Amino acid sequence: MNTITASDTTARLDVPGFRGVLIEPGDNAYDEARAVYNGSVDRRPRLIARCADVADVIAAVDFARERGLTLAVRGGGHHAAGLGVWTDALVVDLGDMRAVHVDPDERLVRVQGGALLGDVDHATHPFGLAVPTGILSTTGIAGLTLGGGLGYLSRQFGLSIDSLVEAEVVLADGSVVTADNDRHPDLFWAIRGGGGNFGVVTTFTFRGHPVRDIVGGPMLFDLEDSPAVMRAWDDFLAEAPEALTGWFGFLTVPPVDAFPAELHGRKMAGIVWCHNGPVDEADRLLAPMRALGPVLDGVGEMPFPALQSVFDGLYPKGLQWYWRADFVEELTDEAIAVHLEHARRLPTMHSSMHLYPIDGAVHRVGGAATPFAFRRARYAQVIVGVDPDPGRLDALRTWTREYHDALHPFSAGGGYVNMLMDDEGDDRVEAAYGDNFPRLVEAKRRYDAENLWHVNKNIPTS
Ligand SMILES: Cc1cc2nc3c(=O)[nH]c(=O)nc-3n(C[C@H](O)[C@H](O)[C@H](O)COP(=O)(O)OP(=O)(O)OC[C@H]3O[C@@H](n4cnc5c(N)ncnc54)[C@H](O)[C@@H]3O)c2cc1C
Repeated sequence: MNTITASDTTARLDVPGFRGVLIEPGDNAYDEARAVYNGSVDRRPRLIARCADVADVIAAVDFARERGLTLAVRGGGHHAAGLGVWTDALVVDLGDMRAVHVDPDERLVRVQGGALLGDVDHATHPFGLAVPTGILSTTGIAGLTLGGGLGYLSRQFGLSIDSLVEAEVVLADGSVVTADNDRHPDLFWAIRGGGGNFGVVTTFTFRGHPVRDIVGGPMLFDLEDSPAVMRAWDDFLAEAPEALTGWFGFLTVPPVDAFPAELHGRKMAGIVWCHNGPVDEADRLLAPMRALGPVLDGVGEMPFPALQSVFDGLYPKGLQWYWRADFVEELTDEAIAVHLEHARRLPTMHSSMHLYPIDGAVHRVGGAATPFAFRRARYAQVIVGVDPDPGRLDALRTWTREYHDALHPFSAGGGYVNMLMDDEGDDRVEAAYGDNFPRLVEAKRRYDAENLWHVNKNIPTS
């Protein structure tokens, strides 16, 4: 057995019983293995343990704990704060554990902890099923679910955690438990929003929902019409059936063939729709929004996975990301005026602001039923500064912070934990959980008293 300690940075580390791939500084694969989705994150782990199975996860966790190494856990590596990797840490990397199994009779979907949303959609679609997740297929199912999970199916079927029926978790002492409503119910409660604070989730079991082809895509409006469009959209959604949703965003039209050349580079307001139902029904429902006169109407029938991956090409891995999130209970005219002022100054083609509807089925689950505290909010809002050029990062940060500072007073007070950056303080983590925070602290004390899992939006033990 290797007896290297955390402070020894030269000798190779050998994790006893490990069958996957171990990657260290100096290895050819190192730079690719340590890179995460946000290109502005540049961390240098001591060891990246690409696990082949649960036994490997246990071996890596035991190894790190016994040697006092910091542990980081990587699912899809998508968190904008780059929390899937950490300098000098041992990274438990689940990127080779992406299997998804569908049981169509029981409508259950078993997903390994390193799967991406695209893996889940690919596996479920042939069965006419889907799991409610997020809007970019390259995002990891693990981090997304552990923080809540919101997207096109939220209004109809709730958050990802609302469809989670069971999870297999490797705990800090290396033991493996299955958590559900009957077994370790306190752990099952905590992982449905409490992030990676309680262990490594190696398998998630979700309930699948009937989804096959949907009617979806964008409507784009003149930016200066946004106050009227936002007002109409907000009123429209309040009455719309839950099978219909549409998130609102500001954008700059990218110079790609999918858009007419005369729109390229133009700052606009957009709504990306998704109706889980037939075309004629979608047409009838969307008529009032079409009456507002979109400059471009790209709504049409498509397989659900096509909508889920429609933005992948625009947002490849490696761009510079900086963002700020809040929940919104009421979209006031004052807030809309602030939106327009800052949207006019979108700093780059990739930068944006999104408002994701989280009413409907999300509201039918009690605020204390899971750690996700903002069940009364109508929208999850995120202001997003993005660009390929690292030289523009400061400008992205400035625009994002100024926009957020101006808008935050109109918010519900907390932001989505999956969208908190690394320069936001502990008070923002506490605010994200509201009244559920003390119960999370209790669960943390019970399942991770030594705070082994601290490379995350950390829940304190006291
Ligand atoms: C471009 C973009 C689009 C997004 N869109 C959406 C969206 O539509 N809806 C939405 O809800 N969210 C969205 N998010 C936020 C997303 O939910 C988070 O970034 C989430 O953390 C990604 O999960 P991951 O597994 O890829 O993250 P990672 O970076 O791998 O990990 C994030 C955190 O989760 C922990 N973790 C990861 N895997 C495990 C595991 N198996 N067990 C225990 N802990 C683990 C990590 O330790 C880390 O603390 C988006 C993010 C980006 C950057």
